[in-house]
Amino acid sequence: MAAASMETTMDHTNTPALAGQMMRQPLLISALLRHADRYYGSREIVSRREDGSLHRYTWRDCHSRTRRLAKALGALGVQAGERVATLAWNGYRHLELYYAISGSGAVMHTINPRLHAEQLAFIINDAQDSIVFFERSMLLLIATIAPACPSVKAFVLLGDAGERPDMLRIPNVLCYEELIAGHPDDYEWPLLDEQAASSLCYTSGTTGNPKGVLYSHRSTMLHSYASVMPDALNLSSRDCIMPVVPMFHVNAWGLPYSAALVGAKLVLPGAALDGKSLYELCEREGVTVSAGVPTIWLGLLDHAREQGLGFRSFRRAVVGGSACPPAMMEAFRSRHQIEVVHAFGMTELSPVGTVCTLQAHHLDLPEHEQRQILQSQGRVLFGVDMKVTGDDGAELPWDGQASGHLMVRGPWVIGAYYGQAANSALDEGWFATGDVASISADGYLRITDRSKDVIKSGGEWIGSIDLENIAMAHPGVQQAACIGVFHPKWDERPLLVVVRKPGALVDRAALLDYYSGKIAKWWTPDDVVFVDTLPVGATGKVLKNRIREQFRDYRLPTA
Ligand code: AMP
Repeated sequence: MAAASMETTMDHTNTPALAGQMMRQPLLISALLRHADRYYGSREIVSRREDGSLHRYTWRDCHSRTRRLAKALGALGVQAGERVATLAWNGYRHLELYYAISGSGAVMHTINPRLHAEQLAFIINDAQDSIVFFERSMLLLIATIAPACPSVKAFVLLGDAGERPDMLRIPNVLCYEELIAGHPDDYEWPLLDEQAASSLCYTSGTTGNPKGVLYSHRSTMLHSYASVMPDALNLSSRDCIMPVVPMFHVNAWGLPYSAALVGAKLVLPGAALDGKSLYELCEREGVTVSAGVPTIWLGLLDHAREQGLGFRSFRRAVVGGSACPPAMMEAFRSRHQIEVVHAFGMTELSPVGTVCTLQAHHLDLPEHEQRQILQSQGRVLFGVDMKVTGDDGAELPWDGQASGHLMVRGPWVIGAYYGQAANSALDEGWFATGDVASISADGYLRITDRSKDVIKSGGEWIGSIDLENIAMAHPGVQQAACIGVFHPKWDERPLLVVVRKPGALVDRAALLDYYSGKIAKWWTPDDVVFVDTLPVGATGKVLKNRIREQFRDYRLPTA
């Protein structure tokens, strides 16, 4: 057992007996952009706009426009700590907002535009946002929610001068380019307290109302430092980074910050996330590393396969947000020589907690054993600490077998949800992730399930992720989800819900047979149903609760 739980979380500091005498420079988000401008000023940022055209400029241009925007926010009366929201795709104006809002002391509140109107209004009201920046394609949505959001003083269209959408009679609509046009770029970034709130993101909220996670400058900066390291996302100034993961969800896994930290080229794909658009952007701009949830990669891999295409520069795909199916890793590796970097994280973790890379003592292992390790969720970034516990709260051994509740702590892990009392999200100094996992002797995390997705069969737990990964390795399967359905004797048994690959003829018997020898026999699903699509949520993840609802009354075959 690792000595993980011996110290308690330190969330206070005492007055030192002898203070160190180094510069007291707070860790501030504005420093990232200043750094990128000063040392990597000519590196490009390329964005796909809503009309499909490409916009390109440099980190230096970005800094200049961001300072003008910060001035404009001041002119609008935005105060320190005030929440300013965005409903926007990955693009240069969104990037400017990231830095101008947080850098000037206000709180950058990114909102997922794929949520329902009521959920959006709930989030805006909960956060008491004072300004909402939005894309042209979201005009109708804004017109719908505006009357229900009394805290909002102005809505700002992310558009060119003269594009004001008067016709929808949204009160107080401004235009982004007109807003910044009148301001010079001589804004001086304020020296803020590094513990000040910098940004706010609401959890996906698959059950109940979404809850806010309020990041600080310090947590964001430490996460940025840690996430670029070689055994983490391994980013450098030579990279060309394309965050497919949206900037409206957990800060695009911190990539808008880490790209500035290392001085990389940044490629922002906008709303066009289909395989063809991503492929073209990737090839045209020389993307070396990209990041996203597994569903997004399906489209890209399919497009490349159907068109017989290869990649000239793409080297690393960071996959996280849901378990990466081994079959997907294999497709990237064997067809395209692209390394998949499997990462685990969550909104409450800023988001990166673990990343999977090999250690020195693994390098002599046979390739198939290395691949097995690389399929796990990997090891913690320095700063994060983890453990798994049983139902009684006792820590379980690190033996790769015992699976229990995954608990985490660290300087970029949540202490309390927005508006709640300090540390109220913690259990004896640890945050319960809601995931079920095991940890191997050398510290590799393996997520077996979300607690609520575990299939409870005869008092034992069956992890649905393993069952889905096996199904998705079958050549006839496009996507698979496994859920527990009622069984009169065992309480629950696994039901496999499958989307076939176009033209594939795979049937129930062949799929069930495919499990033989790969897992304990009693884990094999009791039945298979074929569907046209799986429900996918606003962040691109398969919605298991929706599937459970759909098959609530499903009767498994007896015998
Ligand atoms: P969110 O806060 O919406 O980003 O969701 C976080 C949740 O996604 C985690 O608690 C996990 O259940 C799941 N998740 C994230 N990354 C992985 C991964 N690599 N493998 C399995 N589940 C993951």
